[in-house]
Amino acid sequence: MKVDEPGSPQAEPYYNPHVAALPKYNAGLNLAAAKAVSGLDQIARLASNENPHGCSPAVSRVLSDGSVEFWRYSDPNCELLRATLAARLEVDANEIVIGNGSEEMIAAASRAFLTEGASALTVAPCFGLHEIEPLAVGASVVKVPMTADFDFDVPAIAAALSSGPNIFFLPSPWNPVGAALDHAGLARVIEATPKTSLFVLDEAYHEFVSDAIPDGLAMLKKAQRPYIVLRTFSKAFGLAGLRVGYAVCSSIKIAKMLSAAKTPFNVNAVAQAAAVAALGDEAWMREAVSRIRVERDRVAAALGAMGLRVARSEGNFLFFDSGRDSAELAIDLLRAGVVVKPWLEPSYRTFVRASIGTAAENDQLLAALSAILQA
Ligand SMILES: *Cc1c(COP(=O)(O)O)cnc(C)c1O
Repeated sequence: MKVDEPGSPQAEPYYNPHVAALPKYNAGLNLAAAKAVSGLDQIARLASNENPHGCSPAVSRVLSDGSVEFWRYSDPNCELLRATLAARLEVDANEIVIGNGSEEMIAAASRAFLTEGASALTVAPCFGLHEIEPLAVGASVVKVPMTADFDFDVPAIAAALSSGPNIFFLPSPWNPVGAALDHAGLARVIEATPKTSLFVLDEAYHEFVSDAIPDGLAMLKKAQRPYIVLRTFSKAFGLAGLRVGYAVCSSIKIAKMLSAAKTPFNVNAVAQAAAVAALGDEAWMREAVSRIRVERDRVAAALGAMGLRVARSEGNFLFFDSGRDSAELAIDLLRAGVVVKPWLEPSYRTFVRASIGTAAENDQLLAALSAILQA
């Protein structure tokens, strides 16, 4: 930060030092940029864990039938969407807060439950916002690294929890790794979390998990402790561009704090209507999820056959060690029309996260990768 004499031509405003020092969020390359760089028209967009099959036709109908009065302000309380979710999740609607994507709820939780000098705990490699949002409010962040076999290090997490972080951000399934905690693992972690720490369980990929993985919300409800469970319409329901996700809180008091930390009209009217329509057609979501899981297992086996170490995944993405600089590999893949996410976090810079796309997109990834690794 450069501080100039007041009134001098170079005078600068005050920069919040926490924000000025933030690491950059590593967002996937957009379609226009990928086309321009690769010179190709056929782009496999595998960087942002979107649903390659789109969304339910029930959503498209609501968006085109003229029923959304988008010239009016949206409902700041998202009444219909909260009531629909509350019935499904068997929780009090007043314990649900809807966000402009669940990422807004990560920011709101950081504003509401952290402050300068507070502490947050998460895992490494980490979902960028689980680190960025606590840092933005001046908190410190401790990250517990994954094990050598690409899994949660439950004993190390339990040990780190004993220091009593103000917030514990736990993604399960784990973006970017893919692992999800089983019943014993989650039970151990819940038990190790002091009741004065807010447990934020980020279940953005909840709909993709196998039967072996427990419902984290159900387990936290039983544990009688403060928590927030985050879920989203961006991944399995295919509404990433509409920006709608939600927080289920352990108490109305926690939900009120989260609400107070967001902007009043945060969820637009189109997104609210689309989310309700998506919930009305869960069969579409289930079908898309099962196709994606079949493809995920096929791609994982193919990557393994190339000699790559691939993490077990309960999500719609795969994380693997490319054995070389992932940013350079991502550029080579981009030249072949494939956009992935090179992991840029220190200690994980040879790792790549690739979303599961359509079968054709996945084939494009596998062919490009095999050509590059053999060159
Ligand atoms: C994608 C993702 C989110 C954010 O989803 P939005 O609802 O689109 O904001 C949150 N957490 C994790 C772990 C994710 O992977």
